[in-house]
Amino acid sequence: MRLPSAILSPFLHFFYPHNCLGCGSDIIEAENFLCLECINNLPHTGFALHANNPVEKTFWGRITVVAAMSEFYFSKDSIMQNLIHEFKYKGNRNVGLYLGNIMGKSLLSSNRFSDINALVPLPLFSEKESKRGYNQSFILCAGINEILHIPVITKNVIRIIRTETQTKKSRIQRWENVEKSFSVLESQRLEGKHILLVDDVITTGATLEACGAEILKTAGTSLSIATLAMATK
Ligand SMILES: [Zn+2]
Repeated sequence: MRLPSAILSPFLHFFYPHNCLGCGSDIIEAENFLCLECINNLPHTGFALHANNPVEKTFWGRITVVAAMSEFYFSKDSIMQNLIHEFKYKGNRNVGLYLGNIMGKSLLSSNRFSDINALVPLPLFSEKESKRGYNQSFILCAGINEILHIPVITKNVIRIIRTETQTKKSRIQRWENVEKSFSVLESQRLEGKHILLVDDVITTGATLEACGAEILKTAGTSLSIATLAMATK
């Protein structure tokens, strides 16, 4: 006997709250986080395929980057903001894995990232990570790893100084604020590798630049960068 869905669904939703994280619609497949319409409306950049894309240009004259990409455009009050909020502040790691999978598929479809040997999540301060329970960039790396099967190196590049809020600072002040924030613990784990440094949202690129510069001090490393989203003004 089939129970009427009116009885079933509230019961199921109690255990498995399931609305589209983009628009709130409940017309959504069980294994998805978004309805089909929101999936179709995701603001992919296509940058993975293109040299000299805006993310790569961000690092010109700053650090040597083999290739860089952001999977999505980020803007306020958008689907992306909802998704990022969900996995960064509401503890929904599965959303992060899902987004990491999407990044992995784009990286796989591009020959520009084909010789990466290790994924490194942009580290958080240990205090911040303990408070949140995880590093959101690590979750993205885990999602990328599910597609590319490239090892994730964690706890090797660490963040050592608390930086103040960046928003009211000039680019130079921002750089001074973050440049000494990172340290590599056992550099032999990175030696000779082409590292993909992963972060959630790129704005000025100052933090990625500082972390990337520290990684590049290790002999024989080369650096590429992948972020989930790029902030647009
Ligand atoms: Zn939707």
